[in-house]
Amino acid sequence: MILVIGAGVAGLAAARDLVAAGEEVRVLEARERIGGRILTARSDALRVPIELGAEFLHGEAKEVADIAREAGLLVCDVRGDRWRVDGARLTNVDDFWGDVETVLGKLRSDREPDRSFQEFLDTGPGGPRLARARALAREYVAGFHAADPALISERALADGGAPEDAAEERTARILDGYDTVPRWLARGLGDVIETGVVVHGIRWRRGSVIVDVVSRSNGASRRYDARAVVISVPLGVLIATGGEGAIRFDPEPRPHLAAAHKLAMGDARRVVLAFDSPIWEDVPKKRLPDGASIATMNFLHGDDPGFPVWWTMMPVRAPVLVGWAGGLRATAMIGASAEQVIERAVASLARSLGMTKRHIAGAVTAAWTYDWGSDRFARGAYSYSMVGGSDAAKTLSRAVEGTLFFAGEACDGGGRNGTVHGAIASGVRAAKQVVRTSGARRRR
Ligand SMILES: Cc1cc2nc3c(=O)[nH]c(=O)nc-3n(C[C@H](O)[C@H](O)[C@H](O)COP(=O)(O)OP(=O)(O)OC[C@H]3O[C@@H](n4cnc5c(N)ncnc54)[C@H](O)[C@@H]3O)c2cc1C
Repeated sequence: MILVIGAGVAGLAAARDLVAAGEEVRVLEARERIGGRILTARSDALRVPIELGAEFLHGEAKEVADIAREAGLLVCDVRGDRWRVDGARLTNVDDFWGDVETVLGKLRSDREPDRSFQEFLDTGPGGPRLARARALAREYVAGFHAADPALISERALADGGAPEDAAEERTARILDGYDTVPRWLARGLGDVIETGVVVHGIRWRRGSVIVDVVSRSNGASRRYDARAVVISVPLGVLIATGGEGAIRFDPEPRPHLAAAHKLAMGDARRVVLAFDSPIWEDVPKKRLPDGASIATMNFLHGDDPGFPVWWTMMPVRAPVLVGWAGGLRATAMIGASAEQVIERAVASLARSLGMTKRHIAGAVTAAWTYDWGSDRFARGAYSYSMVGGSDAAKTLSRAVEGTLFFAGEACDGGGRNGTVHGAIASGVRAAKQVVRTSGARRRR
């Protein structure tokens, strides 16, 4: 028996491949649902899915694109124009990635000793000419990587921190909703997946594991015996020392847990606002360049203290705006009520578009948000490498005595951590490692 802990895309991909290889598999999932940090809501009033976790395919995202092709899912590239809040005006951003890259291109993956992105910025790379690009790059690192610039590693960011070519800059969505991906991975796994069981202990020696679980519905304890275990819980859970979801290892896989502590769980907060009509098109004309229209806006970047980034559903024309706050801004919102967070988002949007809060609040027909930082089975949004941690994902991806195998987005380095495709790749890799050890056992 092989146990897989977690039914996010990493665990599901591992289970799918293990079952295909003829292994007896059981997936233990704490929540009552599969998909982990992919969480799609639907509303009768809206024709687009409401993503509360992952939304985009970043770059080629081969593992997701392959599933979309097999499953016949509709994938739609993001199109439209990027805008920026520039004081009291909105200006068109001609070359967003070019600006980010002029700064991130100066990072060194061989920096010795490693330092934080903030320390790098403090040296003023590019001089006064790049002051604006540096501010944009800082917002990008905090927002996209959900990171604290004072903690994230220069070496790790240099290695895959930003897209390097047009193919990597591509951003797309699954029009059917991202939850179709875990559902596709889980097809055929039926009885293999057990939900509502929280793993709290892993006792192991080479070739033998006892996993202790507790049922969420009735508190009953149970143990499972296995030859090996794939552990695909989020980094935040892996490094947690207490509370629901935390796992005690006996003995501790020291190098792996030490590597995990060189990574951090970043925070991100999204608010989805629905309107009767595209409210951003009501922006006062004097805010825009002469004759310009923001009807085809995709992203709006700014530096608002609440929600600095907003995006539309472009190229789909839907009256929906998503507000995004990454890094410390999001950390500050952990534990706040949904009403407080939505109110904050409305205030940010009002400042960005130069409208009154009252006008925006009155136009909102529905709003959604989700607190990943307070979720015991996520404990944050996604991982990043802290200073000195650029090789940590590689360490985590190594098998422990042919018995413990780690998977999940945090185990995939090279810029693919924090993504759905990176998580799937880590599950596929873990399954291959398990199958290899099974083969070796049979040969002995
Ligand atoms: C707000 C947000 C936006 C994002 N946007 C994007 C995006 O646009 N594009 C992109 O590619 N990625 C995005 N991501 C990241 C992406 O969602 C993740 O990288 C990916 O889904 C992680 O998959 P995983 O299988 O590694 O982990 P998870 O999906 O977290 O799965 C781990 C599973 O383990 C379970 N678990 C935890 N503890 C226990 C326990 N003790 N016992 C049993 N089960 C347990 C959890 O319930 C969960 O189901 C986003 C994430 C967030 C939060």
